[in-house]
Amino acid sequence: MLITGASSGIGEAAARVFAQEGAIVVLTARRADRLAALVGELRDKGAEASCVVGDVSVADDMAKVVDFAVTEYGRLDSAFNNAGIGGDRSPLHLMSDDVYDTIMDINVRGVFNCMRHEIAAMLPHGGGSIVNNSSVGGLVSIPTAAPYIASKHAVVGLTRAAADEYAKQGIRVNAIAPGTTRSEITADWFGRNPGLEELVNSATPQGRTAHPDEIAAAAAWLLSDRCPFLTGTVLPVDGGYVNQ
Ligand code: NDP
Repeated sequence: MLITGASSGIGEAAARVFAQEGAIVVLTARRADRLAALVGELRDKGAEASCVVGDVSVADDMAKVVDFAVTEYGRLDSAFNNAGIGGDRSPLHLMSDDVYDTIMDINVRGVFNCMRHEIAAMLPHGGGSIVNNSSVGGLVSIPTAAPYIASKHAVVGLTRAAADEYAKQGIRVNAIAPGTTRSEITADWFGRNPGLEELVNSATPQGRTAHPDEIAAAAAWLLSDRCPFLTGTVLPVDGGYVNQ
């Protein structure tokens, strides 16, 4: 099991949840120290875990990560393409090229880079399961986050395209669309926007944000063989937000 963006937040929670369920986990992100600490923690608990530092926006880095997983463990069964950034927020007409490019490079090209190497590794072994981390922002709009919204809609598009293309070859591709989840992305947004957290809570039917474990649990289920007929779906994990 490959997990991108495993150095914090949802990816870090996913590493713990998947390892606890018995998966061999290969973790990647840019912060080597955070990954190494998590690998140490998981191995201390008896799990098989490794890490490779990489930037999802760099195709060669993701080739290296997938190669490592296949060389070390024989094959790649599943992948949680979770790495992503929130990016700076502002009204659309004030957004800079730089903000747009950075968000698209990491959130969209990153998932594209990961999927092409993962799928290439899965095809010779009869298939696999991929979950991409989109967002409720991949289904509906959130104010002052146009590039982020566009990037997460694109993740849904990549998920649907890949699910369609590889269904006959045994590769399932799904996405999750988390609602607001307590992580470094939201700590940053809430820190810079007083009152935003209360606003998010009141806009969510369940009246709260998610714990990263709740998002990881949904990804674990979609990745597992408990749902073999599920592909091309986008599962909101959002306390009822998009259902309103
Ligand atoms: P965090 O900021 O805690 O985690 C983001 C992870 O992505 C980190 O591990 C970071 O690692 C990694 N990452 C960022 N850029 C890159 C890059 N270029 N290459 C490799 N890794 C990268 O936030 P979350 O856990 O909240 O975010 C995880 C995913 O969940 C994102 O895709 C986000 O859009 C999505 N999401 C989050 C929501 C929320 O409310 N928190 C809601 C909906 C979706 P490092 O910096 O070490 O590279």
